[in-house]
Amino acid sequence: MKILVIAAPTDQRGRIDELMSAAYAAANGTECEIGVVLTGESHDAASLQGADRIYRIENVLGAAFYADELVRVAEQACALLSPALVLLTGDALGQQVAPRIAIRRRAAYVSGCCGFERNDSGELTFVRPVYGGKALEVVGSTASCTIVSIKAKAFLAIERRPTDAQVETLRLVRDERPTGVTRLHTDAQSAHGGPSLEEAAVIVSGGKGLGSAEGFGLLRRLADVLGGAVGASRAAVDAGWIASACQVGQTGTTVGPELYIAVGISGAVQHLAGIGASKQIVAINTDEEAPIFGVADVAVVGDYSRIVPALIAELTEKRA
Ligand SMILES: Cc1cc2nc3c(=O)[nH]c(=O)nc-3n(C[C@H](O)[C@H](O)[C@H](O)COP(=O)(O)OP(=O)(O)OC[C@H]3O[C@@H](n4cnc5c(N)ncnc54)[C@H](O)[C@@H]3O)c2cc1C
Repeated sequence: MKILVIAAPTDQRGRIDELMSAAYAAANGTECEIGVVLTGESHDAASLQGADRIYRIENVLGAAFYADELVRVAEQACALLSPALVLLTGDALGQQVAPRIAIRRRAAYVSGCCGFERNDSGELTFVRPVYGGKALEVVGSTASCTIVSIKAKAFLAIERRPTDAQVETLRLVRDERPTGVTRLHTDAQSAHGGPSLEEAAVIVSGGKGLGSAEGFGLLRRLADVLGGAVGASRAAVDAGWIASACQVGQTGTTVGPELYIAVGISGAVQHLAGIGASKQIVAINTDEEAPIFGVADVAVVGDYSRIVPALIAELTEKRA
C-alpha cells in the first residue's frame, strides 16, 4: 500500500512528525511505501525521518498561500503518485482542504481520525471520535484512495527507521488564481510570535467569564511569562473578543499541552472534547460547581481578575 503524507505550508515539524507516526500506525508493520510531500518554503527535508520517498514541489507555497493552491497541489500529487491513503493534519486548514481533495480525486474522506485498526478480513479501518468525543466509531473505506485528516495529538512521535531517501521534485502545474474566497492572511498565534496551539507546551485559555476582550490582554501576559499560547472557548470567540483561530474544542483546535490553564471557562462537553490530551489542567473559576473542576488537576475558585495578575507577578519574580 502507498501512503502519502501531505505537509501543508503551515505544518511545522511537530505536526509533520505526528502525521509520520500516523502513517506508521496505518502501515502497522505491513509492506507499505510511505511518501511525504513537502509543500511549504519552511519545510526542512533534512530533518525528516522515516519516509521512503520525499517529494518537494517545484514552486513551494509561500506564507500567504491560498487554500485553493494547496488543494490543487495535493490533487496533482495524488494523480501522479496514486496513493491508497493520503494523510493531512486535521486542523482548520486540513479540515477545509481534505474533503475538497477527496471530491476532486473521487476518493473517500475520513475526518478527525485518531487510530487505525484492521478488521477480520485484514482491511484497514479508521477510528474517529463522535458525539463530542464521548464515543469512538470505526469506519471502513471501499474506495481505491482514502483521504484522511488526522486528529491533533492522537499519534505521538515514535521512533522511526532512518532513511536515506533523496528529495525528489514534483513538477506540478501552478495556478495561483483563487478559485474561491479563502486566503490565509495570518495565523493568530504566530502573528504574535508565540507557539501555535497545537505545539504549545502551555496554553492559557479564556472564556465568557473574562467579561471582555481586555481580559485576553491579561491572559496574553500570563502566556508570555510561561512561553505559551492563548486559547479560548467558543463563547469568547462568538463574543468577538478573540480570533476564531484560537478556539479550543470540538469545533476548534484539539490540544495536548503539558499545562492547560482554563480561565473563566465553565467546561462544556464541547470544550472538554478538545483538551483531553492535556497533561495537567488548572481551572480558575468563580463557581465551585463549574464542570471544568471535574477534569481539573488544580482547582482555583475565585475571580480571575485578582488571581491572574497575582500569578503573573509571582512567576515574573521567580524568573527574575
Ligand atoms: C455543536 C457545538 C459545538 C461547539 N464547539 C465548541 C468548541 O469547540 N469549543 C468550545 O469552547 N465550545 C463549543 N461549543 C459551545 C459550548 O457548548 C459552550 O457554550 C461554551 O464552551 C461555553 O463557553 P464558556 O465556558 O466560555 O462560557 P460559559 O459557559 O458562559 O462559562 C463562563 C464561566 O466563567 C465563570 N466566570 C464568570 N466570571 C468569572 C470570573 N470573574 N473569574 C473566573 N471565572 C468566572 C463562570 O462561573 C462560568 O463557569 C459548542 C457548542 C455546540 C452546540
